[in-house]
Amino acid sequence: SGTNEQSNAVVKDSIDFKVDQLMAKMTLEEKIGQMNQYNGFWDVTGPAPANGAAANKYEHLKKGWVGSMLNVSGVKNVREVQKIAVEETRLGIPLIIGFDVIHGYKTVSPIPLAEAASWDLEAIKLSAQVAAEEAAASGINWTFAPMVDISRDARWGRVMEGAGEDPYLGSMIAKARVEGFQGDDLSLAHTIVACAKHFAGYGFAEAGRDYNTVDVGTSTLYNIILPPFKAAVDAGVRTFMNGFNELNGVPVTGSAFLQRDILKNEWNFDGFVVTDWGSINEMIAHRRAKNRLHAAEIAIKAGADMDMESYAYVNELAQLVNEGKVDIGLIDDAVKRILRVKYELGLFEDPYKYCNETTETEVIGSKRINDIVLDVAKKSIVLLKNENQILPLKKQGQKIALIGALANDKTSPLGSWRIGADDGTAVSVLEGMKAYKGNTLKYEKGADVATGEIAFPKELTINVTDKSGFASAIAAAKNADVVVMVLGEHGLQSGEGRSRSELGLPGVQQELLEAIYKANKNIVLVLNNGRPLTINWADANIPAIVEAWHLGTQSGHAIAQVLYGDYNPSGKLPMSFPKNVGQVPMYYNYKSTGRPTIPAPGEVFWSHYSDVSNAPLYPFGFGLSYTTFAYSNLKVERVSDDVVEVSVNLTNTGNVKGKEVAQLYLRDEFASVTRPVRELKGFELVSLNPKESKTLKFVLTKSELGFYDNDGKYIVEPGTFSVFVGGSSEATLSAQFEL
Ligand code: BGC
Repeated sequence: SGTNEQSNAVVKDSIDFKVDQLMAKMTLEEKIGQMNQYNGFWDVTGPAPANGAAANKYEHLKKGWVGSMLNVSGVKNVREVQKIAVEETRLGIPLIIGFDVIHGYKTVSPIPLAEAASWDLEAIKLSAQVAAEEAAASGINWTFAPMVDISRDARWGRVMEGAGEDPYLGSMIAKARVEGFQGDDLSLAHTIVACAKHFAGYGFAEAGRDYNTVDVGTSTLYNIILPPFKAAVDAGVRTFMNGFNELNGVPVTGSAFLQRDILKNEWNFDGFVVTDWGSINEMIAHRRAKNRLHAAEIAIKAGADMDMESYAYVNELAQLVNEGKVDIGLIDDAVKRILRVKYELGLFEDPYKYCNETTETEVIGSKRINDIVLDVAKKSIVLLKNENQILPLKKQGQKIALIGALANDKTSPLGSWRIGADDGTAVSVLEGMKAYKGNTLKYEKGADVATGEIAFPKELTINVTDKSGFASAIAAAKNADVVVMVLGEHGLQSGEGRSRSELGLPGVQQELLEAIYKANKNIVLVLNNGRPLTINWADANIPAIVEAWHLGTQSGHAIAQVLYGDYNPSGKLPMSFPKNVGQVPMYYNYKSTGRPTIPAPGEVFWSHYSDVSNAPLYPFGFGLSYTTFAYSNLKVERVSDDVVEVSVNLTNTGNVKGKEVAQLYLRDEFASVTRPVRELKGFELVSLNPKESKTLKFVLTKSELGFYDNDGKYIVEPGTFSVFVGGSSEATLSAQFEL
């Protein structure tokens, strides 16, 4: 009986038991309330709003009809709304407070695409961890991140928010970010719930236009789009977000195939799904639902548990249940999932555990967090070109001209999706370079990137006319030993609703670059951007190109330290850079066709364009260093039925210490469903001193050599496989093995 008593105690302690006890007390309205999420709606320090939707929301909160709020932050504000939920409602169920903590909260990390370029999973995890610490210190307990949408289309503005084009790298990064945000124990007050989004297919919007139709085949869905979501589930992510897009004719918010069949049944996910903002209502605009009542019915049946800002569940679900159109079991399942996560956070034990003013002032903006963010910023930089050893810059006796509006911008480097951070808080390149005092530095703007008011979510007005600053920039260049130009996209040119149809340097910047080049060819081009750019002219003419993305709060220091050689860059591109927009979608793991992509002599009808080559400007996985690396002695050994071991020697052949991301690609030579020409299957970040060599080992297990067939079944087929190892997706060292 002792064992029985013990196990009874375990049951009573268990979260599911507590959830059931609580749910037994809840009315239908209170249950539906848990499924309702509202945007932050009034100045909580003032009186309750008198009219309109806000007043309604306030009344709903007091009635216990609100389970979650988003965009409330700061301990004072969070405490205020939590107090209403806990002290004024019948059951006192605490709110879960959500916020878009995408790449940092107040202290901003590089945009997620930039961090992906580090290929440094520890650094990425740490960045998520400190973002969680700052957000938690501000009262937040749930972030709408990571975005794990794979995308092959640089036109799509939200590529800045993801990990690029590859499902393997994307899966590893999804795991790192989930683990960073959630930590080992969600009940600790510095960890927060993560959310894998947008389930699924959002990154395949036709023509890269945000919110557009997605129509992809099963092979792409199962092998490319879904794996990072699966990785997030395996890493223990507690929430999912659906999305705005339709997928093969079904708005994903109303997709039972995705949310029930795959996520909750096949993957056994027992957390909850929140809708994207207003996405239940958008099913009306999609022409899937005839009205809000219908939309609510479709969404709950499809497995969307919490309604973000559609007002659909709170207003329509009770009627649907009462009329017998929606089974109460569906409501109970959703509420159970939501309450479970609230218990896991420890909010029932102490609803104010995230509301500590002392922690708030101590944690936010601390030196430790700024150091971590600087470190990941340096690791995110990719050296794309470096001829004539123009980089690193000499530290003494140089006359340097620094040109470009972005060089003197303290807001743009924060990038898109950093709503917790204040404008003007980034270190600019000008400030970063000023910290090096041995040279003379002359700054000239040259030309603005954008004009007029720059305020999210207002669309930017790009400067396409004003060249009045050219003359003095040219004069500065003429007088300089080296010119550093910071050009590219403003931080708010990418992100949600920020698709572009052209991928060159915006506005008059290309003209500025060419004008300066005429005055002084010794140019280091530093790019700031939230997506791959088509920079063919620069690649052909400018001796050094540094991809610096939007690097966050410490941007200027990170860039200056790389330019001056105090940090040797090791980043590798997580997305292919196309030569022109017509090549898009551009990705390294493409399929073979029935025609060659390299022509046989005299061949006319090969798979190509007549005006541009098939190759990217810079391939996936590419990036240089101030040193050089050589790969040799590739060996593949079948060590058992299940295991293949790949080894290779990597040598630092240059004169300085450096880090290399060694990459392993696999090709299944033939299969029952066609396979890509190569797929990333492993990588290792290796640090080597000059002339130092290391033997690297990659282990491939049989279960990693398969793929999803067109029914979504994972299969491993025997046959011939080729491996390629090297410093980019164009690695040439190869060997074969049989399975
Ligand atoms: C975005 C989501 C985001 C949500 C809440 C939506 O517009 O698509 O990614 O989490 O807003 O801010």
